[in-house]
Formats: sequence, structure tokens, C-alpha cells
Amino acid sequence: MQEKFAILKTHFGYMGFRPGQEEVIDALLSGQDVLAIMPTGAGKSLCYQIPALLLDGLTVVISPLISLMKDQVNALHDAGIPAAFLNSSLSSGEYAETISRAVREEYKILYIAPERLQRGLPSALTEARHIAMVVIDEAHCVSQWGHDFRPSYLQITEFIRQLAPRPVAAAFTATATGKVREDIIRILNLQEPFTLTTGFNRENLYFEVQKPRDKYTALMDCLKTRRDKSGIIYCSTRKTVDEICQTLASRGFASIRYHAGLEDEERRRNQDDFIYDRKTIMVATNAFGMGIDKSNVAFVIHYNMPKNIESYYQEAGRAGRDGSPADCILLYSPQDVRINTFLITNSQEEEEDRDEALIAHNLELLKAMTFYATTSDCLRSRLLGYFGETAPNYCGRCSNCNTVFKTTDITIPAQKIVSCVYRLERTGRKFGKTMVINILRGSKNEKIRSFALDRLTTYGIMADMDAHRVRTILDYLVDQQYLAVAGDEYPVVGLTERSREVIFDKKPLSMMLPQETKRSAPLDLPEEDAFAAPEAGRGSRAVRSGRPAGRGTGSIGDSTINSAAPDYAAAEGLLEKLRELRARLAQEKRVPAYIIFSDASLRDMCRKMPETSEQFLDVSGVGSLKMEKYGDAFTAVIREWKRRL
Ligand code: ADP
Ligand code: MG
Ligand code: ZN
Repeated sequence: MQEKFAILKTHFGYMGFRPGQEEVIDALLSGQDVLAIMPTGAGKSLCYQIPALLLDGLTVVISPLISLMKDQVNALHDAGIPAAFLNSSLSSGEYAETISRAVREEYKILYIAPERLQRGLPSALTEARHIAMVVIDEAHCVSQWGHDFRPSYLQITEFIRQLAPRPVAAAFTATATGKVREDIIRILNLQEPFTLTTGFNRENLYFEVQKPRDKYTALMDCLKTRRDKSGIIYCSTRKTVDEICQTLASRGFASIRYHAGLEDEERRRNQDDFIYDRKTIMVATNAFGMGIDKSNVAFVIHYNMPKNIESYYQEAGRAGRDGSPADCILLYSPQDVRINTFLITNSQEEEEDRDEALIAHNLELLKAMTFYATTSDCLRSRLLGYFGETAPNYCGRCSNCNTVFKTTDITIPAQKIVSCVYRLERTGRKFGKTMVINILRGSKNEKIRSFALDRLTTYGIMADMDAHRVRTILDYLVDQQYLAVAGDEYPVVGLTERSREVIFDKKPLSMMLPQETKRSAPLDLPEEDAFAAPEAGRGSRAVRSGRPAGRGTGSIGDSTINSAAPDYAAAEGLLEKLRELRARLAQEKRVPAYIIFSDASLRDMCRKMPETSEQFLDVSGVGSLKMEKYGDAFTAVIREWKRRL
């Protein structure tokens, strides 16, 4: 059993297992099926790659995204593990070659696209009696209750059934609620699986929700402080993706797009440009990202709210995989809820296929997502709570924990708002929220003048309050039924029975209202990240900002870590040198830079400054194979850098 540690070190270069990894490995090695639910970035691959090396025979991995198999296999080769893949990108010659080499037992791991199973695999392979393990990655795809059902995944059951002796089976997913979990076990026919759920908390992620008046401006603000960083912007429609991507490009951002409406060729090219750091910003629909192992994504911005928390957490979780601080920002607007509701209720076109239970289920999931977007509670505790974990109700690293909400007296503003609606109704008119707010704030827009609304006594009586705040109070009044919103096509604000309590009874009202504060530096980050925050860029051609740590502006996205200040400036020069070397090697080998070493590994080198092979082995992410391949080059740069100091 000590072998697993040896492999961890030699092939992968890690000192110890992360939570859950060892238990899963042990179960698989003892022949027990596994269902492992671990968040994105937790390290699921290692859980099957290590047993694959120790088991006698071949491990077959079913994975949904064929475009990434090549990278996965490359990474395994780089770690000295014989692996291959079967998917539609292979020519028939390559396909036959791969099969025959697999039959000759030349590989330890073989990735297979689920679509491939549909056509059946050659019996030479399935009857060879040497398939020791079948791994189902992204196993939630088997369940229609999941958020990414793939019919081809149903083939897996039959595939496993025809193998004799039955190999051990392992299912992995990042997100699984009770129903999905049951489905995975039942449909895949897992035999008394060892089930493991590791914590969903991702310490290094900063969660933020913004409710901007204008999303586009908000997006620009987010990006301004993140120039040169690599990030993903998720939009709900292809059209939005196209628009945003184009605008960003015209503003000088290195943006690229991805959605199902593009030609395969462009999709592949764009994905590669992003993974290989040739472009820094990926604007995409949810079609992008599954299986993307790019470890240096510094932010994930949702331009639209997703349909459920499962999708949100999976997509947001693509940030900061290497453990560096990263930001997950959701730009929310009530419009997102309306569009999602429409999509869910109209998802099944044929009347007879309508699955009311499924629709109701999906609407519940949407409700939970909306709740996340609108809560004033700690966002992290909301997310973790949703996945069944108890978490402290203050994390200090989300926009809600960094916003002080104060109980605020709103008696007077409430009276102003309700009487405005009252005046309008008295004159036989009703308008939407925006119009009511515009009247209250004394807007000079054309419509107001043409309706002579500027002659109302309530015109302009809230001119001194920020429109956003007026809206928040108005929303609260609607929520508490002091006002009502009705009408499908044009929702308008009207009075309710309770309205009189506000304007006639002068009922005292108060609510929690935010007081914006500056975001503080992330707390308790793992030591690994000491040099992470003030990075100027991660791409090979990134320009260095030269700004020392601890003197940042303190604005969002500029999390500064003071403790690293003294040797940071020095270390950054080195980091840049190591990056250049990595970029050169990556280019030579035609692999993404992170496959050579992750950013976390480079930073560990800055910290440990290894000069000999032995010291180099001490760096996180350096195994004996990588030491042999890259040790000399990297230690040479470090020695040279020290000499010049
Ligand atoms: P996921 O669970 O999302 O599939 P991956 O398997 O892609 O996650 O792993 C995410 C990152 O964590 C990878 O860069 C991987 O090399 C790294 N990793 C995995 N296990 C460990 C470990 N025990 N120590 C340090 N890093 C690890
Ligand atoms: Mg994975
Ligand atoms: Zn929090």
C-alpha cells in the first residue's frame, strides 16, 4: 500500500493526498465500487489514475468532452503514464492502431467518449479480460435530474455488463444532489459502492454577487482591475456571447468566444487559444468548460444567472484550480429569473412529452439559485448549505460578508414611494417599477414630460437617493405586499390592501440595507498563495506591473497580501523568469503551459529556491519524472537569478 505514496510523488510530484483521495484509492484497490462526489478542482483524476497504475490490467475512463482527451493524455504522458484515447477525432487508421495497442496491453489508461460505446467496441478489447476498472467521469450526466443529462451515458451500463469478469467501477462527479446520487448508483448499477462526499468549500474562491443597473458597465469595471488575467465570462445565450466577445475585442481585450452555434473548427481553435494562454478572456455559454483543467483561471464572471446552483458552482469552480486566489462574480438582474422560468416551462415542446414533475423540480432549483443571488447572508455558507454542508454564517471572503447590512429606518422613503403609486392610481394610471423610480427621482426623460408626470406632487421627492437604493426599498415593499406588481407583458406597480398602513397609518418600517465597504484581503489563505495575489499576468507574454504587494488599491480583485511584501518584489522577478522558461518549454513541446508546471508550482519554486535536483524534488508538483525532464533548466534559472541578486 505504500506504493500509492510512491506514485503520488514520482509521477505527480505531490507530497500528500488531498481530502478523500486516499480513501477512494484504497476502496478501488480493494475491489470496491466507488461513488465520489468532490468539487471541481478537488483532484478527482488522481483518485483513479493512481489505482489505474497499481491494478493489473487496463483502466477505461468514460469522459464526456472529447476535445480535451488529448490534453489529458498528454499530461499523463508527461507524468510517465502510458495512456491513449478513443474518440471521433481519430482517423480509422489511428483508431485501429490504438485498439490493437490497447489489446497488447501497452496502455494503463484508455479514455473513451461515451458516443463511442454506442457503436460498440471491438470484441478483441472487451473480451480481452484485462479491463480492470471502468471510471465514469462527470457521472451526473447519466441522470436526467442532473443539470447536464447526456443520453449516450446510458450506454455505459451495457458496456460494463458485457465485461467479464466485471471490473471495478468508479463514478466521479462534482455535483450531485440526493436524486442524482441515487440515479448514478441505480443506472450504472454500482455494487455497494463506497460513497464519499468531500467538503465543497473552496477556500481560495471569493464569491460576489452584483445587482448592477447596467450589466455591461459592471462587467467593464470587473475587467478593468483584471487586465492580463485569464478568465471566463458566462452568458446565457449565443447572441450575448457574440456581442460581449466582440465589444471586448474592440476595447482591446484578448477575448475569444465559445458556444454550440460555432463550427467545430472555430470552437476547437478558440478553446486551444484560451488553454494555451494565447487569449485571456473566454466568453462562452455553458457549453464551454466541462473537463477543462486549465488551472490558472483567475476569475469566472456570470453575465447571466444560471438555472441552478449546481451549474453555477461547477462553472464558477473553474476558477482558481491551482489553489491561487480567484474571483467568482455573478451579475444578477431579475430579468434572468424571468428568462430562466420561461426556458424551463417551455423546454418540452411536445405537449404529450411534458414532464410536469421535472418542470416543477427545475423551477425549485431555479428558486434556490435566485435565493443565492438575492440573499444578504454569507454567500459561501449559502452554497455549502445547499450541498448539505453546515458552514459558519460568516466567511469573510464573499461580497455579503464584506458588505455591512444595517437595519435602516425606511418609514419616510416608503411613504414617498407608496404615495407616488397612490397619486398615479388616483389619476387612472399605472407604470412599471422603473418609471415609478424615475418619477420619484425627478428624471427628465421624454416619457415623463409627455405624460406630464413632472407635475405630480411626488415628482422628484427622492432625488437625493441613489436609484438603486430606491429600487431596493420598492422591491421590499412589493415583497411585503405593501405594493403589488401585476401584468404579464408589462408588469405595473399598484396598490394593495396594506398600502394604507404606510400612507395613512404612517406605520414605522425598517429593513436591512447595505452599506458598501471596501473588500478586505482574503483571510487564511493557504501558504501556497503568498505570491499569488498581486500578479500582473499569467500568460507567457504578460507584462509585469512592478507594483509591490501590500500597496494595492484595495479595490475588488486586487486582494493584497501584506505578509508577502518584504521578499515579494524580489521573488516576482524570479517568477517572471520561471514563467518565461515554462512558456518556452510549453511551446517546444506544444502543450499548454500548465501541463509543464502549474502556477502554484512556480510560486513554490520562488519560495524554496531550489538549486539542486534534490531540492527541486521538494517543490510541490515535481515528481522524479518532471525533475529529470525539467530540473536542470529550472534550477539553472534559479541559480542565475540568485547570482545576480
Ligand atoms: P477535478 O476534481 O476537478 O477533476 P483535477 O483532477 O483536474 O480536479 O485536479 C485539479 C488540480 O489539483 C490539478 O492541477 C491536480 O494536479 C491538482 N492535484 C490533485 N491532487 C493533488 C494533491 N494531492 N496535491 C496537490 N495537487 C493536487
Ligand atoms: Mg475532472
Ligand atoms: Zn461570506
